Amino acid sequence: MDVSEPQPQPHVVILPFPAQGHIKPMLMLAQLFCNNANFYVTFVNTHHTHNLIHKLINKTNFKRLFPTLRFEAIPDGLPPQHPRSGPQVLDIFFTMGFESKAKFKDVLTGLHQQEEWSPPTCIIADGIMSFAIDVAEDLHIPVITFRTYNASCTWLYFHIQNLIQQGEIPFQGDDDMDRPIACIPGFESLLRRRDLPSICRLEDAQNPILQFYITQTSAMTRASALILNTFDELESPIISKLGSLFPKIYTIGPLHALFKSRTTHYTESDSSNGSLREQDMTCLTWLDSQPSKSVIYVSFGSVATLTRDQLLEFWYGLVNSEKPFLWVIREGLLLGDDTVVETPAELEVGTTESGCIVRWAPQEEVLTHRAVGGFLTHSGWNSTLESILAGIPMICWPQLADQQVNSRCVSELWKVGLDMKDFCDRSTVEKMVRNLMEGKREEIMKSIAGNSKMACDSVKEGGSSYCNLEKLIEDIRSMRSTTKNIAHVGNE
Ligand code: UDP
Repeated sequence: MDVSEPQPQPHVVILPFPAQGHIKPMLMLAQLFCNNANFYVTFVNTHHTHNLIHKLINKTNFKRLFPTLRFEAIPDGLPPQHPRSGPQVLDIFFTMGFESKAKFKDVLTGLHQQEEWSPPTCIIADGIMSFAIDVAEDLHIPVITFRTYNASCTWLYFHIQNLIQQGEIPFQGDDDMDRPIACIPGFESLLRRRDLPSICRLEDAQNPILQFYITQTSAMTRASALILNTFDELESPIISKLGSLFPKIYTIGPLHALFKSRTTHYTESDSSNGSLREQDMTCLTWLDSQPSKSVIYVSFGSVATLTRDQLLEFWYGLVNSEKPFLWVIREGLLLGDDTVVETPAELEVGTTESGCIVRWAPQEEVLTHRAVGGFLTHSGWNSTLESILAGIPMICWPQLADQQVNSRCVSELWKVGLDMKDFCDRSTVEKMVRNLMEGKREEIMKSIAGNSKMACDSVKEGGSSYCNLEKLIEDIRSMRSTTKNIAHVGNE
């Protein structure tokens, strides 16, 4: 190779799992690559999520801000009428096999043949999209795995097989849920049965969902490195342990904050945050009318669902707590038909007096609004990080995937919130809200202020996540010449 030859900019292909909590951080990374490294980026959605994003994105602004970012789409293997939401989003695990893999390969081969952009330098694939690793290996393109869980949960997933062998899981839902789980290195005195990921509650070790996660987790180690949306100061002991499984780990979170800290001309209205739903901005005006730190913000994210009874228990608990509340009741949150809930009169009155309900909120702006004092959350990892960064203490009501683990870390490890997992009767909800907003507030606020500062510092120049992104960019640049040569060999 002639070293004096000017090198084209690297070209990174990013493939997220098609769900809100995966697309958002991976799109932030894509945008950072464009803005801060001048990389070319191809972001591969499924047709379904591609259409949702493109309905909401301000295309002119987006093109101006990220001229080297483009989108491609592949099928998800589901029939058009499939809802692709709530728990049914898991169906995609089993349909994104053959057809999606073939189309993903076509996209990559097509990119090789295009004149104006350099061929792909590396692939960054979601940690539960292992077919991308197969394709990368076939085409001799380096691949990095991006797990959208935190380090603690990622580490825990590597021990699921061991938990099965030791007879710790599966267990029945009503077995002793407070039994300690002491066999995971690093978590000897943290976890109980109820804090394990929701897949551990499946009754059969051969359940395809449980097996899917085991296979996907083990495939991640075939990648050359791991990216996590967390920061060193929050999880350093576990990040070190993961170092025994991956030659390189880039902890670059909170990505939404790193993105904002490194993008001077960004405004929220650019709609480049990867939202799949329209955000109702009117709730910000409602928040403007509320006293400082008085409001409890309630959201269960994009996948968790509630039965009608659970919805009513939360609602009574919130109204009875006598604190103003802003509640996201998204389409599909309620299991079954959500148009048939008859609201008891006292809840109508309580909500008119001190509540605001929206279909989808601008969550990052809500959490940093001066009126918000607490967050009743399902403990999705993005929501947890956003809350920590904003210094807003949490009440956790986890339901699935990593949420049970996150909520345990929030309450017992980082001490930045209260955990009410598995219970949501109205008196528990009321008690938790009162404790968070009054009784236990001082103590929790001290911890969250410290963690929030560490999160903010990590994304500033010289901070751990800031520097780790720089390393990632440098390492991708150094992959460029190798990939070019390999691609050449492949074409001969
Ligand atoms: N979110 C939002 N508006 C809402 C509720 C959620 O913008 O009304 C965003 C939130 O900021 C977060 C993401 O949706 O970034 C949800 O991701 P998370 O990992 O918390 O949960 P998931 O939806 O994956 O369960």
